[in-house]
Amino acid sequence: MSTLVKNILDVKGRSVVTTGSATSLGEAAKILSENRIGALVVVAPDGKIAGIFTERDVVNAVAKSGRESLDQPLAGLMTAKVYRCKEDSTVDELMELMTKRRFRHVPVEDKGKLSGIISIGDVVKSRIREIELETEQIKAYIAG
Ligand code: AMP
Repeated sequence: MSTLVKNILDVKGRSVVTTGSATSLGEAAKILSENRIGALVVVAPDGKIAGIFTERDVVNAVAKSGRESLDQPLAGLMTAKVYRCKEDSTVDELMELMTKRRFRHVPVEDKGKLSGIISIGDVVKSRIREIELETEQIKAYIAG
């Protein structure tokens, strides 16, 4: 059976770096760099997810507006329609979603609240672990 999102979060933790939609692109780039992450979840004052802003959006904004983009707020640069998953979503489901929609980050929502974020790196790590375990089981079966 495929690993659950919950299993990944239990190991990596549930904290998510967030910001508001008034944050400028320049500030957002700093937050991404300082935290060594590729995505920021943009939240509304009530804590609900308002959008997602990733390093890809930095590239797109700079390509479009040059240095002027640095002062622009995330509100107009982020992706507002955010695909989310649940703690009981499977890694297989996330792999399919990321491949189909061509993004590398999926926020996790539990009872309407942000409870973590899964990156493509987490998905790859988890798949490799699954394959290693399967290989060990097959080897043990053959030997046994
Ligand atoms: P990424 O590959 O995650 O850097 O994102 C590529 C593009 O998809 C960027 O424009 C992001 O804003 C957008 N994006 C990233 N994650 C999501 C998501 N979970 N739902 C919707 N859009 C997303």
